[in-house]
Parts: sequence; structure tokens; C-alpha cells
Amino acid sequence: MLSSSFRKSSKVAPKQPPQHLSDLNYDVCIVGAGLSGAVLAERYANVLHKKVVVIEKRSHIGGNCYDYVDEQTGILMNLYGAHLFHTDSEKVWRYVNQWHEEVPWIRWDHEVRAVVDGKLVPVPVNINTVNSLFGLNFRNTSEMTSWLNSIQKKCDGNCANAKEMAESRVGSVLFQKIFASYTKKQWDKDASELEPLVTARIPVRNDFDQRYFSDRFQALPKHGYTKWFERILRSDKITVQLNTDYFALKDLKCGKTFFTGPIDSYFSKEGLPKLEYRSIRFEKTVLRNSGFFQPASVVNYPEPNVPFTRIVEYKHFLWQKSDFTVIVKEFSTDDGEPYYPVPKKTNIALYDKYKELANEAEKKSSIFFVGRLATYKYINMDRAILLALEMFEKIENRTR
Ligand code: UDP
Repeated sequence: MLSSSFRKSSKVAPKQPPQHLSDLNYDVCIVGAGLSGAVLAERYANVLHKKVVVIEKRSHIGGNCYDYVDEQTGILMNLYGAHLFHTDSEKVWRYVNQWHEEVPWIRWDHEVRAVVDGKLVPVPVNINTVNSLFGLNFRNTSEMTSWLNSIQKKCDGNCANAKEMAESRVGSVLFQKIFASYTKKQWDKDASELEPLVTARIPVRNDFDQRYFSDRFQALPKHGYTKWFERILRSDKITVQLNTDYFALKDLKCGKTFFTGPIDSYFSKEGLPKLEYRSIRFEKTVLRNSGFFQPASVVNYPEPNVPFTRIVEYKHFLWQKSDFTVIVKEFSTDDGEPYYPVPKKTNIALYDKYKELANEAEKKSSIFFVGRLATYKYINMDRAILLALEMFEKIENRTR
């Protein structure tokens, strides 16, 4: 068994000194090669034939979606935690599939299990979860619906926080078993301190549906996210500049700039307090096992005595084969790369102050703030794509 913490993995090209950016004049400068940045680069290059530079401080494109084939095991895995694409938006689905011949997407209905009271149960809560945890024998939707009605603490669209939101769906007992300690571990906050949207992400089911998401379109890129990013960024009009700190670049001239990094890093000299982010430390273990370590790609550990939140076993995704398997434990932490804005009232109020600065900057210098970190919003991949497309359309007065 081999174990390592791999936030700074050897599987990623080591950080290089910044390359010299010989050309310093662009129609569009994009800071960050994650989803929002890549989509905007692609639109400006392909629709408007603009000259675009994407400046990325990491040694790779793809932002936190970045994935790679692990050398030892041949398994395709994400460096920054599993990314499961799902959307109800036709527009986003059409967009991501434009390069289908080269970088196809394969249907993947994601499933998650959780270890609760020593049992492995489906999450989101469904009939099997309840039968298993409470020794019940519900067989249909109507039995489950009346049971849910009897235990739900309804807040009728006015849930004040993430605790109330979860209890309005699964009641107090399941909230304690599945949400309370997991949320505390993930955010280092009580669910009552967090906004309802945090637990609103997890539905409750009155049937046997085992899927994590309910969206119409659920898929993974067959050859991985990185290959998909490479394809959408492939254009004579786009220069991708890796290993480069945007703030250290001098004399760059941009018609417009799109900034996708943490908004407080852009306005660090304005004297506002820093925004709060949550990060993840990953602990990777390689096992010589031609089968699987766990029965699903993701197993959550909501109980307080386990220090990590979940274990991801990448071989499950798209039915990969290997004589090995790789499991990755996720430990939430305050230190490290910002992954999650922390949806809490005081943080949102502070973000609003940054947003005022952003609005002024937009008017003065044609700089636009887009994406999870620059808008301090806990959004999914499809939303990031949609917001980037909408920003492009609004600014350029274009519709697809
Ligand atoms: N959550 C939980 N128990 C679980 C799964 C999720 O308490 O087993 C809560 C937790 O607060 C988490 C939120 O639901 O932050 C959203 O979960 P999701 O899986 O969407 O988180 P992400 O994949 O973004 O880390």
C-alpha cells in the first residue's frame, strides 16, 4: 500500500518559471484557465475572432476539474477531487457537446453511499436508506411519502439556514445521522450558521432512485476533463500562458479582462478583510486490487469520529480497469487552495463590499469578474458554464 498527500502531486508538471509573454497586446485577457475562463476564451476566439490570452498561475489548464492518468495504475483521476457533471440546461449540454466527435461525453449517473450506524446506505435518502436505518419495510412511494410527511420539519420555502433546510426534507433524526457532523467537518461550522443553499443541494427521494443528482443530463468526458479543456482552448486565436502570476505581469494591454480568481485577491490593496474559503487536503492510497475497495465511486462518512468527509475511488468512473485501485480520502481544511466560498451571512455581506469595487472596476477598466471564486458563489460546473456564456452574450450582445 502506498499513501501520500497529493495536493502538490508529482503527477502535475512541476512549476516552471514564468515563460516570457512576447506579445503583450490582446483583445481579451482571461485570468484563470478553469471553466469560466476557458468558456470565455473559446467564445471570444471562435465567435468574434478576438485575440485572447489565458493567464494561469498553475502548471496546467482545467482549474479544479483538472484530471490526469495516474502513472502507476493507469487510472484517470482528478487532482482536486471528483467532478461530476450534471445539468438541466439544454443550452449548457449543447455547449459542452460541441466537440463530441473528439471529446465525447458518456452518460454517468452518479451514486453515493454513506456509512451510517455501521451500515452502507444510499445518499440522498431514499426508501432503501430509511428501511435499512430504521428497520422498516416500505415498498412504495406512497408509504415513503406519508412517512416523510410525518417526520419533516417544514419551513415552507423560508428555511433560515442549512439545518432547517435539511430537517425540512429528512427530519431531525436523519439530519443528525447524515448532515450534522458531515457539515461540521466540511465547513467547520454548525449547519445552523450556513445558508440553506448548502444542504438544499441534497434532495430527498420518496422512491428507490439511488442517483445523487436528478438532472436530465449527467455525464463524464470520456477522455477526461483536461482533454476536453485542451480541445475547447485549441485555436490560433488563443494563447495559454501557464505558470504565470497575472499580478506580476507588467505592460500587458487588454481590451477587456475577465478575472476568475478569488475576488479578494484582486482587491487585496483596498483594506477589506479577506474572504473565507474552505479547502481540501487529499490523501491518496494505491492498493493492489483488480477489484474495488468500496461499492460506489464515492462513500461519505458523516459520523464525527471519522476525520475525513468522504472516500473517492476513481476506478469506478466510466468502468475503468486496472490491476490496482486508488482511493482518495478528503479532509476539509482552512489552509490551501480556495475551493469553496463559505455561504454564511457575514461572508456574503463582506462579498457585497467587494462586489461594489468590482462594479466600479468594470465601469472604469472593462474588467469583469466571473466564476465560483470571483463571484464568491457555491456554484456547480454547469452553472459556471452558463454564467460565462451569459456574460459573453450580455457584454457582446450576442445570443447563440
Ligand atoms: N452533506 C451532508 N452529508 C452528506 C452529503 C452532503 O451533510 O452525506 C451536506 C454538506 O453540508 C455538504 C452539502 O450537503 O457541504 C453539499 O454536499 P455536496 O455533495 O453537494 O458537496 P460538494 O460535492 O460540493 O463538496
